[in-house]
Amino acid sequence: MTAKSAAAAARSTVYGYPRQGQHRELKKAIEGYWKGRVTADALRETAAGLRRTNWRQLADAGIDEVPTGDFSYYDHMLDTSVMVGAVPDRHRDAVAADALDGYFAMARGTQDIAPLEMTKWFDTNYHYLVPELGPATVFTADPAKQVAEVGEALALGLTARPVLVGPLTYLLLAKPAPGVAADFEPLTLLDRLLPVYAEIVADLRAAGAEWVQLDEPALVQDRTPAELNAAARAYRDLGALTDRPKLLVASYFDRLGEALPVLAKAPVDGLALDFTERAAGNLDDLAAVGGLRGKRLVAGVVNGRNIWINDYEKSLTTLGTLLGLADQVDVAASCSLLHVPLDAAAERDVDPQIARWLAFARQKTAEIVTLTKGLAQGTGAIAAELAANRADLASRAGSALTHDPAVRARTAAVTDADGRRSHRYPERTAAQRARLALPLLPTTTIGSFPQTNELRTARADLRAGRIDTAGYEERIKGEIRDVLAFQESAGIDVLVHGEPERNDMVQYFAEQLTGYLATQHGWVQSYGTRYVRPPVLAGDISRPEPMTVRWTSYAQSLTERPVKGMLTGPVTMLAWSFVRDDQPLGDTARQVALALRDEVNDLEAGGASVIQVDEPALRETLPLRAADHADYLDWATESFRLTTSGVRPDTQIHTHMCYAEFGDIVQAIDDLDADVISLEAARSHMQVAAELAVHGYPREAGPGVYDIHSPRVPSAGEAVALLRKGLEAIPAERLWVNPDCGLKTRGWPETRAALENLVTAAREVRSGL
Ligand code: GLN
Ligand code: ZN
Repeated sequence: MTAKSAAAAARSTVYGYPRQGQHRELKKAIEGYWKGRVTADALRETAAGLRRTNWRQLADAGIDEVPTGDFSYYDHMLDTSVMVGAVPDRHRDAVAADALDGYFAMARGTQDIAPLEMTKWFDTNYHYLVPELGPATVFTADPAKQVAEVGEALALGLTARPVLVGPLTYLLLAKPAPGVAADFEPLTLLDRLLPVYAEIVADLRAAGAEWVQLDEPALVQDRTPAELNAAARAYRDLGALTDRPKLLVASYFDRLGEALPVLAKAPVDGLALDFTERAAGNLDDLAAVGGLRGKRLVAGVVNGRNIWINDYEKSLTTLGTLLGLADQVDVAASCSLLHVPLDAAAERDVDPQIARWLAFARQKTAEIVTLTKGLAQGTGAIAAELAANRADLASRAGSALTHDPAVRARTAAVTDADGRRSHRYPERTAAQRARLALPLLPTTTIGSFPQTNELRTARADLRAGRIDTAGYEERIKGEIRDVLAFQESAGIDVLVHGEPERNDMVQYFAEQLTGYLATQHGWVQSYGTRYVRPPVLAGDISRPEPMTVRWTSYAQSLTERPVKGMLTGPVTMLAWSFVRDDQPLGDTARQVALALRDEVNDLEAGGASVIQVDEPALRETLPLRAADHADYLDWATESFRLTTSGVRPDTQIHTHMCYAEFGDIVQAIDDLDADVISLEAARSHMQVAAELAVHGYPREAGPGVYDIHSPRVPSAGEAVALLRKGLEAIPAERLWVNPDCGLKTRGWPETRAALENLVTAAREVRSGL
């Protein structure tokens, strides 16, 4: 086949689309169902309507092949568990009694049955429900959902391609079921799982699907030779089936690396690869294996994870190169559009100039169609679009928002010394000890106190104009007084103001920094019916005025004890926002860091002797491949140090992270050069303390002794036991006593009781030292 005829055949497609609907109808219907206000039939009706709307939207935009099965009432991994019959034993009765209620029971748990565990989908902010498997797992095919949905799309007269989580990814993301040995490897179940996939894809073909897509993003991670062999075997077996649709194996979020030759050789009919910047290696790797002779290549050139317009010329160059490497080249987004909001046109408050730079799912769909046309018919066919795209990119590059000379000059002048504190940790800790005069095992909290209804009402009243700013600030001050009074009466040593003024730990700062945009409707699914509206790092970042100082200073004016200043760190600000794609992440992080550095310095000048900079996202943003870790950790730790190193040696810098597993980044945590770190540890019985000790972590640490994810109040005795455990790993001079995380989701009664118990426990253990 010549390049020309391949080009003529180019088709456009996507792998998935936002599920919620224009007005988050799905969230409303599902939550209404949970509350008994919406019937199951009405929920199904809403869902079917949303699927139809999405397919029509895609087809009307000119997408040649629409995805099916990507819709979900909660999560597509959970749907996959149902599809292969991997329902945990504890949920079987519920599922047998009512499939829909049983499904939600697996997702959310019931009064007495725990849900599946939830964790992040690769390095996105989407969470999936982790399959629980064991040697006794029996897979059975339950293709009803997939078959029904492809039928719905075909009935609309569309070309439809079912999208399934592939067998490797399903197993590689699973964990041993409760009661199964922790070293059980779900991948050992592959031979049991493959016949079930064979049955399902055959059913989908019978239902009218010419192609079926199997998503294998787990293959873009570092994989062992045994895992790569398993991949080879799986696709050899599935490819060898006689009664099957054409198989498209999709990967995204990074380059396939060693898995590329494996899949290129497999007897499947097509591969879908990510060709955005983070996966750029795919292009050379594909050339190195000699391309995909006889196969279809779906090229993910439109970034499915950011909200920026595509660079058409760049994409067309990539597509042009790919034409020489496969028999057919189709155009797609790099991954499901689930990870971006639905429609930038709904944003009415965004500056019209900036609006031209934004592309959400609908705009990305149009870009894919345009690129497909350019590929198939030549750039002459899209001359107008190309010109407009060039103009928009130029206006972005030359804009005062994206290029603030003052910010540029300041970041360019940063020296290594700016990211180093004036004194080394051992000298600082002595100075801090003298200044703070804290007891051994000092007690503190992580920052937020319960976000009460009164606080939410106050924010709503302010938005609706029922109260003015002064009235709102009075309510916030009242809350701070209550939080301070409680902490003093409970006997906590290092106090916090409770963060009552914050809606969200990233959004609050984003709203106050120049260069950051907020969206009105930019909802993205985080998990289940929870949607977030990540702010957008659009331009160069600066801080027009102090952001938190007045609250912290007010709190400090109410007490003799130290009140911690409380900020969100640069890495977390990036991780929970949409980032710029026109400069390296490290440059954006540095700008945010300098803005935060001014805030840290102002907090110190305002009297703060302790300042905490939260970095709960430090580990979750770790690149998917180990080879890329060092680069990331370099800029990540540098930006944290840049934020925090402008203070005096006797000002104590704390940081906080929310997870219990981080053996792989202990060095990076040390490189932050913070004085104190608090971590989640209660559920894992102080495992982190041991881990820190094993790695010789030399600083002060507060492994959490109160699991704030549960309404349960731990007794003083439990906290004592955890502290003694902690002392086995961390000496008393370096151990802090605190909860696992912030308390904003907790109620006041349990918070009071738990913190009082925590202080009692600290005193008891202290007295025995
Ligand atoms: N300071 C924040 C709080 O207490 C930290 C939250 C977090 O780690 N996610 O709410
Ligand atoms: Zn936390």
